[in-house]
Parts: sequence; structure tokens; C-alpha cells
Amino acid sequence: MDLEFAVESLLVHGGTSREAGAPLGPPLLPASVYVSQGEPGNGPGYGRNENPGWSAVESALAVLEGPGAQAVTFASGQAASMALMLALAQGREAIVFPADGYYNTRALAGRLRPHGARAVAVDLLDLGAVAAALAAGPAVLWAETPTNPLLRVADLAALASLAAAAGAPMVADNTVATGLLQKPLDFGAVASVYSLTKSVSGHSDVLGGAVVTRDAGLAAAVRSWRTDGGAIPGPFESWLVLRGLKTLDLRISRASATALAVAGFLAAHPRVTAVHYPGLPASPAAVAQMPRGFGPLLSFEIAGGAADADAVVAASRLIVPATSFGGVESSWERRARWPAETAPDTLIRLSCGIEPVADLLADIGAALEARP
Ligand SMILES: *Cc1c(COP(=O)(O)O)cnc(C)c1O
Repeated sequence: MDLEFAVESLLVHGGTSREAGAPLGPPLLPASVYVSQGEPGNGPGYGRNENPGWSAVESALAVLEGPGAQAVTFASGQAASMALMLALAQGREAIVFPADGYYNTRALAGRLRPHGARAVAVDLLDLGAVAAALAAGPAVLWAETPTNPLLRVADLAALASLAAAAGAPMVADNTVATGLLQKPLDFGAVASVYSLTKSVSGHSDVLGGAVVTRDAGLAAAVRSWRTDGGAIPGPFESWLVLRGLKTLDLRISRASATALAVAGFLAAHPRVTAVHYPGLPASPAAVAQMPRGFGPLLSFEIAGGAADADAVVAASRLIVPATSFGGVESSWERRARWPAETAPDTLIRLSCGIEPVADLLADIGAALEARP
């Protein structure tokens, strides 16, 4: 009888071997050149074209996003986004993306204009605005949900039907939720794009990115941008990402439960003026798209000014003051300290790690007493 195992099991076994004498996990192979002669085609040949370390990570990422998908990994999330933008921008006039999403995506899209497509920022929750932007000419719809750092949830099914009506491919940045919590391809996205630097690898020790799609032509196009552009993940980076993926379920399940508890705690705190978390309260789109949990990331605003928020961030004893998110260690930062960020001045973005929730609540409670 053929058994079908859950995604969670397949992730744990990503790259494992059952062959006697073989290493259980894939060996690290730091080769840039492989012995070969004659007509190329058999085996990797050269490290920019192919790397044995990629295949186990890519199959695990494909499994994560559901049946029929294939993944192409990159040196970083930005490298993955760039390849996907370049592959999709050809012949299109605009790339429509969320005004409140990840600021480096905005910066990247803004640089596409000389290459043919202009960047158009919209509020993805305003379906009328999205439809109008898509109606202006051939476009790509670049969704991001939940958004970083405001954690706003866009309705992927509604966006996909607008995109389909306009003949625009829709992609979704799935970095915050990961395929374990949200499957954009099932809601009509042609591709999911990832920073593997965040929750997927999970240990704050590697940068990586990926495009996951069921469209074989699109996968080939982004792969050829990777080969020609050279933004490949190294063997060690791939190995670290695969290792991280094995515990993704444990980490993100725990961090999601913690984030929900922390969001509730913050919402009741007198110094907190706003809490942004997809699960508090969960919109119908959030419930439909994220049935397993709302992710490790939340943000909140406090009364006062930037100096108040800086004092709170500096006062934590456990939570690390740092950017990025999705690591095992909780971290936070005042987001508007980055010049290109458009988040409110006192917005603190908090990434919940895997520490016990009571310790985090104690640390946050104490830090919220701090004044400039
Ligand atoms: C971090 C991030 C990226 C970029 O990924 P890098 O690995 O830093 O290049 C893209 N999208 C989102 C939502 C991110 O948080």
C-alpha cells in the first residue's frame, strides 16, 4: 500500500537517505568545478549552472507549497524577487505592488522602469484601486501578505480574480507566513516568492531566496535568470536552509502561538496605541488563507515619539534588538529607523522566537516601563 505522508514529515526527511552506509543527510559539497569533457549535459559541470546541494532544498520547498510545484533557490530573497520581476516584466508595462509592503521590494520594483515596467504602488486591501491599476495596461500583480511590517492581510482569492480578469500574473511574497501557514498557489498566485533568510532557515545564520511555481515555463525563466545573473545559493547556504526546514513546523507553530499571546498582551497594555497581527482580530481572508496560525511576526505602536520606542527596544533583556525576523531568538526593532521605511515612527516590529511565552511577556512588560 502506498502511504502518503504529511508535509511536516516530508520536511523532516528532506534530503535523507535510506541507503546502507550513506550519510543520513546530504553531504556538503563545496565544488565549483566538476570533471567533464565533450558535449556538456551530464552532471553539473560548473557550479553556477547546477549544484547538488540545491536539489534537496528545492524539493522540500516545492513540497511546502503543495503538489505540482517546483522551486528555484537564490542567493537571497532580493535575488529571487529580481529574477521573478525580470522574468514577468517582459512585455508588460507595470508592476503593481503593495504600498505598505517590504520596502526593498518597492526599491527593486522602482528600478525596473528603464527595463520596461514602471512600479505602481497601491493598497492591496482596496480592490477598486487594484482593479484600476491593472486596467491601465499589461501588468504584473505583486502581492505580499501578511505585509512586512504592518502585517496587513490581502485577500489573495479576490486579488487573483482581478488579476485573471486583467490577464495579469499574480505573485505573492510568502516570506512572513511560509508555505506551512499559507499556500498562495492554491489561491491563484502563479508564483510564491521567498526570503529563506527569515523563518524558513530560522537560525539567523544564512541568506537565501526562492521562487516556487507550478508553471514550468516560469520556473525555467527564473532559473535561466539565476544562471545568467549568477545569484546562486552556495553549497553551505543550501545545506543550512535544508537543516532549518526540518524544524520549520516546530518553530513556526510555537512562534505563532506565542505571537498571538503577545499580541493580546500588548493590546491590553496602556502604553500601546495599536497592535498589528493577522490573528487579532482575524479577518475572513486571514482565516481562509492561514488556517494553521498567523505567523511569528507582529508590530505595535506606542504613545509618544521615536525616542519612546527606541527606549523600549533598548530596554529588553531577552529580546534581541535587531532587524530581520523568523529566527529562533526573539528580536525587535523600531522599524522607521530605516530611512526608506514608511512605517509609523513609533512602530516596533517584533519577531517571536521559540523562548517560553512567559519569559517574553515578562521582558516586554518590563521594557515597556522604559522612558527616554
Ligand atoms: C527580508 C524580506 C525580503 C528580502 O529577502 P533577503 O533575503 O533579505 O534578500 C523580501 N520580502 C520580504 C517580505 C522580506 O521580509
